Amino acid sequence: MRKALVIGNWKMNGLQARNDELVRSVASGVADEAFAGVDIGLCPPSVYLQTIGLQLAGTSVALGAQNMSQHASGAYTGEVSAEMLADVGCSLVILGHSERRALFNESDEDVAAKVKAALAAQLTPVVCVGETLQQREAGEAVSVVSEQVLQALSDLDVAMLEQVVVAYEPVWAIGTGLTASPEQAQEIHAALRKVLSGLSTDAADKVRILYGGSVNAANADALFAKPDIDGGLIGGASLKAEDFIAICRAA
Ligand code: 13P
Repeated sequence: MRKALVIGNWKMNGLQARNDELVRSVASGVADEAFAGVDIGLCPPSVYLQTIGLQLAGTSVALGAQNMSQHASGAYTGEVSAEMLADVGCSLVILGHSERRALFNESDEDVAAKVKAALAAQLTPVVCVGETLQQREAGEAVSVVSEQVLQALSDLDVAMLEQVVVAYEPVWAIGTGLTASPEQAQEIHAALRKVLSGLSTDAADKVRILYGGSVNAANADALFAKPDIDGGLIGGASLKAEDFIAICRAA
């Protein structure tokens, strides 16, 4: 039985005063028995990780980053390492988000290297995959996401693979208000789990596969009811405490 997981990806939004308020509201809103069955994480911009980590200490909410370097240390101006993220209290890191792939030219190779670096620093990598609208319309959704998962994860041994989280985020559903239907999402999640079972049946059973792309308080229930959808990676709706808490409740 996989425990549900809901992660808020704030992307490049929020300044200190608003973050403070949002973190407070989320942490107190989910501090209740009703949320015992769901793991919850927040991924603020990296400059705020340490402050928010201190705010979250002692709460049930985990801290995560939105990206990291694949390198351990050294002359990589502007980059942040896995060890640094762990050092300021992160336990999660989003890797290979479609915005990183499209806007910052991250390749499957980069993502695979980052996954290994994250695991070496005891961070849980949340590996994002997803097809574009054009790829979906060409009937390539399953092959595109399967290839992305294989490229990112096939080098890992089983013990490592079991610690990974996968997030299916169809590019056409991100920030567009267009959500994959629960059936469309389930089809891809089941295909992804099949790909994982080709690497290890045990790991395929354990790895949580999150859905992301215009999840909101109204559509979360139906998505999370699907057998292979183990929670969500939430963008816009994670910036409103009330909505994010409602989504966590649905998981
Ligand atoms: P939205 O929920 O804003 O569509 O963003 C999804 C996402 O990219 C989360 O990583």
